[in-house]
Amino acid sequence: MKYDTLLFDVDDTLLDFKKAEDDALVKLFESEGVSDATLLTVQYKKLNQSLWKAFERGEISRDEVIQTRFAKLFELHGQTVNGVLLENTYRGFLEEGHEKIGGAAELLTQLAPHYALFVVTNGVSKTQYRRMRDSGLDIFFQKIFVSEDTGYQKPQTEFFDYCFARIPHFDKKKTLLIGDSLSSDIRGASLSGLDSCWFNPDHLTAPQDEKPTYEIHALSKLLNILS
Ligand SMILES: [Mg+2]
Repeated sequence: MKYDTLLFDVDDTLLDFKKAEDDALVKLFESEGVSDATLLTVQYKKLNQSLWKAFERGEISRDEVIQTRFAKLFELHGQTVNGVLLENTYRGFLEEGHEKIGGAAELLTQLAPHYALFVVTNGVSKTQYRRMRDSGLDIFFQKIFVSEDTGYQKPQTEFFDYCFARIPHFDKKKTLLIGDSLSSDIRGASLSGLDSCWFNPDHLTAPQDEKPTYEIHALSKLLNILS
């Protein structure tokens, strides 16, 4: 067996984050009495993305992103809201979202008897633990590593070093990372010297400098790589 340890990303690899996010935003905006939740959702995504980009450039902190994004959003409509309070409400709704990506449970059922399975996810620990538990997928994993617990995040090598130190009998050469994000999963694997499998259901094109070891368009295809 080429690999004995498999590291899985969660969002948009095992669980459908886009759906969880959309559902949570609609619930939040409805609870705030917003008349056009669809418009606000579009504006939120644009704003949220630009805030995370500013975070990646080191211009603002992570706390600033999540604690001000809703205040900034409602400001666009001339409304003053308590951004921290809305963030907490949103997080509550987000935690309820745990729809699985097609084939995830079937894949893990087949893999679990033969491989040591671990989760490596960026996010808020409480949210990720709850979503994994509610989805029923948590039972397949020996450990769930969430960036918040480590003080680092993918693609930082410090995040992966934290995980490696806690995986029994860890051997880099026998470990494969599976994830949908080129910038956090595939780059993270390559920075840490791991083989990677890019889950790419939308058939996107990878830039030259982000080369995954493997690429699959459906989760079930991972079995072909491993066999
Ligand atoms: Mg992901």
